[in-house]
Amino acid sequence: MPLVSMRQLLDEAAKGGYGVGAFNVNDMEQIQAIMEAAKQTNSPVIIQASRGARQFAQDKFLFHLILAANELYPEIPIAMHQDHGNSFETCKSAIELGYTSVMMDGSLKEDGKTPSTFEENVEVTRRVVEFAHPRGVTVEGEIGVLGGVEDGHGAGGSGLDHITDPDQAVEFAERTGVDALAIAIGTSHGAYKFTKKPDGSVLKMDVLIAIHKRLPHTHLVMHGSSSVPKDLQDIINQYGGKLKETWGVPVEEIQLGIRNGVRKVNVDTDNRLAITGAIRKVLWTQPEKFDPRDYMKPAREAMQKVVAQRMTEFGQAGHAGDYKPIPITEIAKGYADGSLATRPLVAAK
Ligand SMILES: [Zn+2]
Repeated sequence: MPLVSMRQLLDEAAKGGYGVGAFNVNDMEQIQAIMEAAKQTNSPVIIQASRGARQFAQDKFLFHLILAANELYPEIPIAMHQDHGNSFETCKSAIELGYTSVMMDGSLKEDGKTPSTFEENVEVTRRVVEFAHPRGVTVEGEIGVLGGVEDGHGAGGSGLDHITDPDQAVEFAERTGVDALAIAIGTSHGAYKFTKKPDGSVLKMDVLIAIHKRLPHTHLVMHGSSSVPKDLQDIINQYGGKLKETWGVPVEEIQLGIRNGVRKVNVDTDNRLAITGAIRKVLWTQPEKFDPRDYMKPAREAMQKVVAQRMTEFGQAGHAGDYKPIPITEIAKGYADGSLATRPLVAAK
């Protein structure tokens, strides 16, 4: 099966009332972990690469690893997504490489750090949509600014600095024609999201629900949505790590989001924690080991376990075979003839 349009994955998720995890990758073992978890749970998947990942692995290596996954797991629909594109050129290069989906994060300027104006965001995102849709490629935009920094991308600071305004979200969706919309509701990238278990004062699920009410058919995206489980933190610290105590986004809050229009859930930190914990454990308890496979195999297994658990919790498990993937050339026709709507349905306040 060819790589699938993310729009199709998310449209199907909306029909089925579930969310789809989008897992970040830099290397072969992470891709293998995701694919084994998808096979184990019979899940469609979104595999995503940040600019940092594309640099680390080199574009061709990473993309051909995804093609290998596609060939080896023909029963699993895979969308390949550029995470946090910082410019039109970054998104264009991903599309030309063969990615079936891109995020244009115009909430920040091209430096990936400075918050942009609303008009700048609309303009660059609209430009990416105009390039992507005739090629059948999905576009995710972002309105509001996430906290924290990951892979050198992010405004830093608290997730509460630039919460998405529901009226702006409506205007943004109308003017850009994005397929999916990332919103800022208090979450941050990285491991240090919250200093205590988050409540409504720091995790603004009410804002998410308000946006969903106004844009009932728009696929919402939760970024910075690792749960940062205590047991994964503990393994790292038990074997010589020095993580400070921290809280992520509880799975039940993500599930509340999924009941309110969230269709894509980005998870990276949890997998990083699982991998690092497994590697630390081997090196700490068996210091005589030096074959990388002795620690990469348990690392891969630890990530697979987290991914499979999230796939089950988000509800995508069991849905891999529900539908026939539409080639992106057909998706392109759908955008052109209007059968794939890009004007969002807007409900009154
Ligand atoms: Zn993100």
